[in-house]
Amino acid sequence: MSGLLFVLSGPSGVGKSTLRKEVMKRCPALKYSISCTTRPPRQEEEEGVDYYFVDMQTFEEMKGRGEFIEWAKVHGNYYGTPRRPVEEWLKEGFDVILEIDVQGARQVKNDYPSGVFIFVAPPSLKALEQRLRERHSDPENNILLRMTNAHLEMQSIRDYNYLVVNDVLEDAVDKLRSIILAERCRIR
Ligand code: ADP
Ligand code: 5GP
Repeated sequence: MSGLLFVLSGPSGVGKSTLRKEVMKRCPALKYSISCTTRPPRQEEEEGVDYYFVDMQTFEEMKGRGEFIEWAKVHGNYYGTPRRPVEEWLKEGFDVILEIDVQGARQVKNDYPSGVFIFVAPPSLKALEQRLRERHSDPENNILLRMTNAHLEMQSIRDYNYLVVNDVLEDAVDKLRSIILAERCRIR
């Protein structure tokens, strides 16, 4: 018995982390894969909870040893999914959720074609920009870069199995939870 792999992508600021945290409260036995990043931590972020914060040299070494399932440069920083926990959880029968960008999702699809790929979109780009600004976590030039990249990321929606528009948070949480429950019932 192997667990299911859920992959959540969508533009920065769309609400992926918020959604994922809410769904995890309601979907027991769902494991979140904590990524490594070379991005500096935000004020409220915790090492080993939100990310493993590493320097560029450590990231390169891990990459060289094949320790990432996938990795990508996103908004000027490097991000990667550690291989070992994901492989072990899946083998043990746990469902795993990844929160990664569209480049990473493409790599994962090659190795895990049976993964469930979910794209989270904002109700509008204006709402996305407002969320990025109200999060108060990124400098102005980085917000503009994230908005530019959002246009490009939205073009990958067709590569995904599901689309969840995060307008009213509770509705989006319900939709994501429903997708997870339905996939758990699917006859494979
Ligand atoms: P991501 O993980 O996609 O970068 P976050 O989860 O950090 O995005 O959310 C970005 C900001 O938007 C946060 O301040 C969060 O509280 C807010 N947010 C998330 N979902 C909604 C929503 N449905 N409506 C309004 N604000 C939201
Ligand atoms: P943030 O800096 O806002 O936390 O994340 C920026 C972007 O990096 C988001 O789109 C997020 O999904 C993506 N990301 C986070 N972790 C990973 C990862 O391990 N791999 C890849 N490819 N992208 C990631």
